[in-house]
Amino acid sequence: MVQSAELDVAVVGAGFSGLYLLHRLRGMGLVAHAFEAGSDVGGTWYWNRYPGARVDIESQEYSYSFDEGLQDDWRWSERYAAQPELLRYLGHVADRFDLRRDITFDTRVASAVFDEAAARWTLTTDRGDTVSARFCVMATGCLSVPNAPDFPGQADFAGPAYHTGRWPHEGVDFTGQRVAVIGTGSSAIQSIPQIAKQAEQVTIFQRTPNFSVPAHNGPIDPGVVEAWNANRAENRQKQRLSAGGFISSDPTELLSVEVSDEVRRDTYEQRWARGGFAILGAFADQMVDPAANAHAAEFTAAKIRERVKDPAVADKLVPRDYPWGTKRLCVDIDYYETYNRPNVTLVDLRETPLDRITGTGVRTTAADYPVDAIVFAIGFDAMTGALARIDIRGRGGVALKDEWAAGPRTYLGLMVAGFPNLFTVTGPGSPSVLSNMVVSIEQHVEWICDCIGWLGDRQLGLIEASRAAQDAWVEHVNEVADMTLYKQANSWYLGANVPGKPRVFMPYAGGVGVYRELCDGIAAKGYEGFVLEPAAG
Ligand code: FAD
Ligand code: NAP
Repeated sequence: MVQSAELDVAVVGAGFSGLYLLHRLRGMGLVAHAFEAGSDVGGTWYWNRYPGARVDIESQEYSYSFDEGLQDDWRWSERYAAQPELLRYLGHVADRFDLRRDITFDTRVASAVFDEAAARWTLTTDRGDTVSARFCVMATGCLSVPNAPDFPGQADFAGPAYHTGRWPHEGVDFTGQRVAVIGTGSSAIQSIPQIAKQAEQVTIFQRTPNFSVPAHNGPIDPGVVEAWNANRAENRQKQRLSAGGFISSDPTELLSVEVSDEVRRDTYEQRWARGGFAILGAFADQMVDPAANAHAAEFTAAKIRERVKDPAVADKLVPRDYPWGTKRLCVDIDYYETYNRPNVTLVDLRETPLDRITGTGVRTTAADYPVDAIVFAIGFDAMTGALARIDIRGRGGVALKDEWAAGPRTYLGLMVAGFPNLFTVTGPGSPSVLSNMVVSIEQHVEWICDCIGWLGDRQLGLIEASRAAQDAWVEHVNEVADMTLYKQANSWYLGANVPGKPRVFMPYAGGVGVYRELCDGIAAKGYEGFVLEPAAG
């Protein structure tokens, strides 16, 4: 339970972001408390327990860097850690730094209202708690609100239905069952091979195929761990200054359009053999030059055709209508090979759209598919979803959801004009989901905490993004996105997966390192672009 109703900082969420915030704020001698809708810490890795869930960045890179002892003591077992291990890691962090005593679980923050006279935020929860805090940090996650399935007839379905983002804690046994999986994003691509190993029959309903690369997962190579630890400080610094927040992609300056066909093929083959996001570092022009991007797409398509035996099925699995990498690349274990199994069927919803869910299964315009269970792997209301579900009111009682009616507008993805002392972690306008998120989270947490400390040292009570700085930042985020191919995909980066959501490219595509330097420069100039006011009284 919250010990004090008068906090220095209220934190919403207890995933990677909320846990580090609590630890850091406590270390500054501040009174901080977190509220978490789940029953324990972990965030993404608490909720997403579907079979096959695992990280897409190498384990040692997708971990906190802030504590040497933590890094010395923790050992990952696999190259790409699976969800149970990631959850154990976050539980270990909570234990190690004794964080749970400052977290109220099973409690959802319903509203956060700024009281201008008192210069404080008042938070209310769905359990009736009210707390007041000088600062409020929304560590609510970019992918924490699953899209609710909304298919005609779904209430008629007699069997169980699951969303990958809200998987039952006790697990699901599909033995002997016929299972429908709707969706073919990362969650589906990870879970389908596992479900197919257990179920009698799996039918996959695909609207848009994704580009996926093999993880080549396995027990973590002791040599990799040794090399990582031998240069850990340097590796961590390289991550922080890199484009994507990870270094295993080993990016080159080579341009795909300038090398010979042979060099290009060899480069891609070598990176394919390394697995995972190594391919992202192959050429510097693949995300900005359509011709270079087409090379990556052609190479990946050829691999899909190699991996899938039936050419007609392979053909359906090849993405055609958006550039390679403009939706987060999926990292799979035997995804395409799973279509070679006799118990797996692919239904292309572009050819035969989903008509309705019936009492006994899924009906397309062409056929009925009787199933015992349905898995909805249909994604999230990303980046703004969790914030939109809290009634956040800033100056003059203005609601954040009204302020963002035409799409999110922030300064640096950290603050919003009109909402003083309210911070967002990995909010829209920051690199966020385009990166190794742990690196982006650490940078935000440190920037926010340093800012709060800096204000305290100067007897300043309020910080707020100026509208001019916010407008300029939004323009910059758009300009940078326009230099890339990202906007050519109907992705959740643009809000395209949620009917009625404004189409705005939300993350900052300028890179983690560039962004960090911008944020640090702004802080060094006395928080340029922010309006500062003395503490009340
Ligand atoms: P979260 O982990 O989402 O935690 C936010 C918490 O806030 C949640 O527990 C939620 O319950 C809580 N919350 C939200 N609203 C409220 C409220 N109103 N009141 C109380 N509590 C609230 N990123 C990568 O970089 N690499 C990966 O491989 C990767 N894999 C992923 C796999 C899946 C299946 C998903 C969904 C995301 C993945 N991500 C990955 C992104 C992942 O979300 C981040 O890496 C990271 O875990 C986010 O941490 P967070 O603390 O910011 O948010
Ligand atoms: P997603 O990428 O948004 O995929 C959702 C899938 O459901 C898409 O194939 C989508 O098709 C389909 N879909 C949605 N609504 C549908 C409908 N009404 N009818 C038919 N199909 C529908 O969601 P996700 O797979 O959960 O992944 C989200 C993000 O989480 C990822 O991009 C990644 O950042 C993160 N993640 C990472 C990992 C990892 O590897 N570590 C694993 C899971 C998730 P359309 O494309 O046609 O809309």
